Amino acid sequence: MPLKNPAWSLLPALLLCGWLAGAAPAAGEVSRRPDSPTLPAHPRILEAVQAPRTARILRQVALTYAPQMSERDREIDFLQKVTLAKRLIGVGRLVGLRHETLNLLAPGQEVSWEDLRRRRWSGGEPVGVTLEVPVWVPARAQRLKTYSGFEPKWQTVALATPRPSGCVWFVRTLAEINDKTRYRPETIQVEVNSKFAPLAALLLEYIFREGWYDPSKRLPLLAVRAGEDTYAVSAASGPVSAECLSFPDNDGASMAASVAQCSYASLADIYHGRHAPASNHRLGLAMDINDFNYAGVVDGIPNPVSRSLRQYNRDAMHKIDARQLPMWVYRAAGWLGCRIPQSWAYTGYNVDWPHVDVGTK
Ligand SMILES: [Zn+2]
Repeated sequence: MPLKNPAWSLLPALLLCGWLAGAAPAAGEVSRRPDSPTLPAHPRILEAVQAPRTARILRQVALTYAPQMSERDREIDFLQKVTLAKRLIGVGRLVGLRHETLNLLAPGQEVSWEDLRRRRWSGGEPVGVTLEVPVWVPARAQRLKTYSGFEPKWQTVALATPRPSGCVWFVRTLAEINDKTRYRPETIQVEVNSKFAPLAALLLEYIFREGWYDPSKRLPLLAVRAGEDTYAVSAASGPVSAECLSFPDNDGASMAASVAQCSYASLADIYHGRHAPASNHRLGLAMDINDFNYAGVVDGIPNPVSRSLRQYNRDAMHKIDARQLPMWVYRAAGWLGCRIPQSWAYTGYNVDWPHVDVGTK
């Protein structure tokens, strides 16, 4: 009588499992290579029980970490996962997510993330989820909780801290910010529309993975702002000082930056914001990546809005302040189908800030 399941017949399956496990650890697992720090878990949402479908899509589109992946292999893997994510979400052009989300509201009502995040899609998944993704942070970076509310002034949020909504990272000196060899892998948390979560996760994990394979491409993600109306960190820190670059003018291309020592009443002066009613942030369908408010410097990078030409010299800006997004980040956001600052139409002047979103039409 022939053996039903001879041990050797399982060998190919075992090899395949081993290879897959090595190539792409499942969410929540960690893998270790002899010469590398521990790989943080893939992107995940904190509300996996309430939003099982979104959690499953995130697992399905997690990026691959195979040994010695070339830059081109990583690009192909990213593009394949983007295509898969869009198919699983059921979206073509990303602006479709804006229309679908607005359809949840009565016409004429002021759009608010505080309202929308509690609503549910027809399948039962909540609109608002908290995305946790791996990020690189400088050696002595300090984690700060962020708070959100529907307030006309960010100061109200900084003082009353209505509800926690994620975290950002704070670093005091430019030397630490630019010391890529001493970065450590960490995570950041940000609220986002559940239908946008897999796409946002792909871009942020792609940014992290580039730095995993190539330390010179490490980009510290210290503040990622997505779904929110008004946000701030707590003002309870009291006075704080931090370094920032300052330039000779507000609009030119000169890279002659000097390091300014800035003082602020509290950390909330640096980490706060409020989005306009028409903003895709209020729908959880936009991201500001490394957006700060270092007042008191000229075209102080990395502030949210710049009218300078130097901002388009992206790789050079990244070299003098690693928080600046290099060009390859915008290229990847474009591959995702996002609207990027260069694609906005302006007449007669430049305006730039590190914002990507699903567009409006
Ligand atoms: Zn923005």
